[in-house]
Amino acid sequence: MKYVAALDQGTTSSRCIIFDEMGQIIAVHQNEFRQIYPQPGWVEHDPEDIWSSQLDSLKMAVEKANIDVKDIDAIGITNQRETTLVWDRESGKCRANAIVWQCRRTAPIIEQLKTDGYTEEIARRTGLVPDAYFSGSKLKWLLDNDPALRADAQNGKVCFGTVDSYLAYRFTGGACHVTDATNASRTMLFNLKTQTWDAELMRILDIPSAVLPEVKDTSCVIGLLDKSILGREIPIASLVGDQHAALFGQACFESGMAKNTYGTGCFLLMNTGSEIVRSSNGLVSTMAWRLDGKPTYALEGSVFVAGAAVQWLRDELKLIQSASESQYLAESIPNNGGVYLVPAFTGLGAPYWDMYARGVLVGLTRGSGRAHIARAVLESIAFQSLDVLEAMQHDYGTPIKALRVDGGATANDFLMQFQANILGAEVIKPKITETTALGSAMLAGRAVGLWNDTELKAIWKSERAYSPAFTPYEAAKHINDWHRAVERAKNWVDD
Ligand code: ADP
Repeated sequence: MKYVAALDQGTTSSRCIIFDEMGQIIAVHQNEFRQIYPQPGWVEHDPEDIWSSQLDSLKMAVEKANIDVKDIDAIGITNQRETTLVWDRESGKCRANAIVWQCRRTAPIIEQLKTDGYTEEIARRTGLVPDAYFSGSKLKWLLDNDPALRADAQNGKVCFGTVDSYLAYRFTGGACHVTDATNASRTMLFNLKTQTWDAELMRILDIPSAVLPEVKDTSCVIGLLDKSILGREIPIASLVGDQHAALFGQACFESGMAKNTYGTGCFLLMNTGSEIVRSSNGLVSTMAWRLDGKPTYALEGSVFVAGAAVQWLRDELKLIQSASESQYLAESIPNNGGVYLVPAFTGLGAPYWDMYARGVLVGLTRGSGRAHIARAVLESIAFQSLDVLEAMQHDYGTPIKALRVDGGATANDFLMQFQANILGAEVIKPKITETTALGSAMLAGRAVGLWNDTELKAIWKSERAYSPAFTPYEAAKHINDWHRAVERAKNWVDD
C-alpha cells in the first residue's frame, strides 16, 4: 500500500492527514497554536509556531499511521491563504511575525489605492476586489515599516511568501523559494491572465521583484523533504490554498461544478474552466488550480456569518446548549412561522456589499418562540449561501446542477435539506468530508503518478444527497421573504 501525507496549515491549527492509495484516512494529528493580537484589529502568528506545529503533526501522524516511511509517495501542503511572511534567504530566519489574513492593519493602504483610482486596474489584473485580506498590502506594510528589510528585499537577501511558500522552504531545508498559482492569486500581485507576477502591480505597491517566489503549478514536485525530518527524502508534490484544495477534493473538475464549505463562515467556489469569469455581483475571480501549465479558474464568494450565527444562538442568546440542538429545535415546528433572521452582524457581503447593514429578526408574532429563532438562524445560512450561488450562476450564465458540501455545519441535516429546497438542486455530502486535506493529497499523488485523472474521480464518493422538496412556488416565496428581510437589514448604522 502507498500513502500520501497532506499537511493542512490552518488559521488556528496545523494538521497532517495520511491517506492511503484508496483515498482512505489512515491517521490524523492536529496541533493548535497561538494567535497573537498586538492591537485591536491586528492578528499575527509566530512563524516558528507555524513551523513547529506543522512539523510535529507530520511526525506524529506518521507514527500513528504505523507505516513504513518509504511507502509515503508524496507530501502535499495546503494552507490558510493570504497570510504573509518574510525571511532571510540564507538563514531562514523570519524578519517579522506572520501577518494573518484577518489582520486589518493595512486598511489605510487599501483606502489610498481606491482613492488613487486603482480599483478597476487591480480587479482587471488580479480578479480581486482590493482588500486588506490579500498579501500585497501586508508585504508593502512590512517593507514600508522597516527600511533595513526593504534594502535587503531589493538586494535579494529576503524572501516573501505565503504559508505554503514558507513551509516549502522549511521542509526542503531552505532549498526552494516557490509558491503555486492558487496562493499567488491571493496576493494582489499576480496577473490571472498572464500567470506571472504583474510589473504594474509591483510598481503600484512598491514591491521589488527579487522578493517574490517562483510560481509553480498546483500539482508538481517542488522539492524533496529534508532527509533529517523522517530519515528519507520524499517529494513535496503540491502546494495549494485551502479553498482551492477543497474544490479539488470535492472533485469539482468540470466547469460549472461548485462546492460550499459551511464553517464559521461559508466559502463557495465554482469551477469556471479555462475562462476568467468577471463578476458583476462583487464576487472575486481566482484560480481553481494550474495543472501542466494550464490554468483553471474559479469564482469565489463567502458568507461572513454562518456557523457563527449558531454559536451566537448558543453563547449569546443561550437558546441551545450545543450546535446540533439547533436541528432538533428547527424540526420541532412545521415551518418558520414567517420569522427571518438576517445575521448581518458585521455588514453584508456578496452580492450586497453593505458594510452599514446590521442584523435583524423580523416577522415575530406572539406565537414565535425559540424554535422559530433557531430555525431562522439555520435558514439564514442557506439563504446567504443561495445569494452567493445565484450571483455565481448569474455571472457564469448557467444554473448549478448540484452543490457539493463540507465543513462542520453539514452535520445539520435540516440545514442541508433546506439548502436543497431553496436551491432547487441536489446538495451532496461526500464520504470524506476532510476535503481540504484530501484535495491536497490528490494533487500531490497526481504529481508523482500515484493517481491518474480517472482514479482521482473515483476517490470522491457521495455519502448522502439531499433532493429539493419544495415546489418552485414554495421556494420562490421563501426566497422573496428572505430578500424582504435583507432590505430591512441594509444601511442601518451610520458611522
Ligand atoms: P471552522 O473551520 O470555520 O472552524 P468547522 O468546519 O469546524 O468551522 O465548523 C464549525 C462551525 O459549524 C461552528 O460555527 C458551529 O457553530 C457549526 N456547527 C457545527 N455543528 C453544527 C450543527 N450540527 N448544526 C449547525 N451548525 C453546526
